[in-house]
Amino acid sequence: MRSANSDSIVEKRRIAVLGSTGSIGSQALEVISQQKDFLEVELLCANSNADLLIKQAITFKPNCVVVCDESKYDVVNDALAALDIKVYSGIDSLCSVVAMESVDIVLAAMVGYAGLKPVLAAIKAGKAIALANKETLVVAGELVTQLARENKVNIYPVDSEHSAIFQCLVGEWHNRIEKIFLTASGGPFRGKKTDYLQTVTRAQALNHPNWSMGDKITIDSATMMNKGLEVIEAKWLFELKPEQLEVLIHPQSVIHSLIQFEDGSIKAQMGLPDMRLPIQFALTYPYRMKSSYPRLNFLEHASLTFELPDSKTFRNLALAYEALSRGGNVPCILNAANEVAVDAFLHDRIRFVELPDIVESCIEKIFFVGNPTYQDYVATDLETRRFASTLLSTMA
Ligand code: NAD
Ligand code: MG
Repeated sequence: MRSANSDSIVEKRRIAVLGSTGSIGSQALEVISQQKDFLEVELLCANSNADLLIKQAITFKPNCVVVCDESKYDVVNDALAALDIKVYSGIDSLCSVVAMESVDIVLAAMVGYAGLKPVLAAIKAGKAIALANKETLVVAGELVTQLARENKVNIYPVDSEHSAIFQCLVGEWHNRIEKIFLTASGGPFRGKKTDYLQTVTRAQALNHPNWSMGDKITIDSATMMNKGLEVIEAKWLFELKPEQLEVLIHPQSVIHSLIQFEDGSIKAQMGLPDMRLPIQFALTYPYRMKSSYPRLNFLEHASLTFELPDSKTFRNLALAYEALSRGGNVPCILNAANEVAVDAFLHDRIRFVELPDIVESCIEKIFFVGNPTYQDYVATDLETRRFASTLLSTMA
């Protein structure tokens, strides 16, 4: 890579894109094609969208492709047979290929708990991680960050708020953080109360005012669980205590987050809501490569406003803070219960207001483990999904 400000040349970075067919994955491929002198695709992986995965493979010609859904292996393998691309299937194959010598950075952009195993495999193999898959840190933050320290692996945040904090920290490593403010748009139901939320539909919940994202994170944004997950993600990324993590509703999504240092000075990172920028910074750090993405015009955003979150109405945020302060396997329970509940809501099996009920019941009922091992996380995830599914069947 050639530094933006000097003539020093270092080698091209070879990227494994996990979740390449999703919202973050597709935008990452756009970034890579904009920065093709500096970045190239080494590995593409998706769950089951074979058609798009094949198209991406033909365009980017990676060394290998993994389709996690094994029933899609033949169709992907046949379509790519004439090209010099290795095709694999299943999560275990993915865990092996992320460790390949030729991979420099693993962009974890799968959704949900499914990201944990390949991220752990990549860290053990010493790969730098560009992390979009926040659920990995929510479920097993202690294990993931400890393993990263042991293997001298850096985790570069992709989530826009965490990228903002990271960007504000550059050059400040020796200074202590007093607190951080994670900004939140408030989602489509900002300012609404429980009475109104009783009857909101899936389509209304999927209609995010500022960001276009995958379905799961869009529902999490509407319930404020997304911000709760991000608070836990920030604790692990920046080694902070619960009382140092504040949420601030900022409907314009121009300030992506803020740090307050011990002298009282506050730094913010600003820009349009465009994930290509944090994705690019995570892949090209410490360099800021020239881009042609739209620039922020202050006159079009003349008023930036702030409010406190309403965690009485949006109970998921309070539940995430509870999981954060209880620690152990509770964030893992929170995450699994939420994944089951969001999936049920997306299939019209439960109402919007019932989402936190499922999470709360699981946190109450599932066994507590204070210092979980990887096996404890696997067992907690399984048991929570089983219990949450039982709850769903009684609610139907
Ligand atoms: P998405 O639903 O659009 O895409 C998910 C991707 O993951 C797809 O490529 C899918 O094939 C793959 N996938 C799903 N399950 C899988 C499995 N079991 N095995 C292998 N691959 C699997 O989701 P998204 O919006 O791109 O979000 C991805 C992650 O990034 C999430 O953790 C989300 O919280 C985080 N994130 C997203 C945004 C955004 O703007 N979309 C912003 C910040 C963080
Ligand atoms: Mg975010």
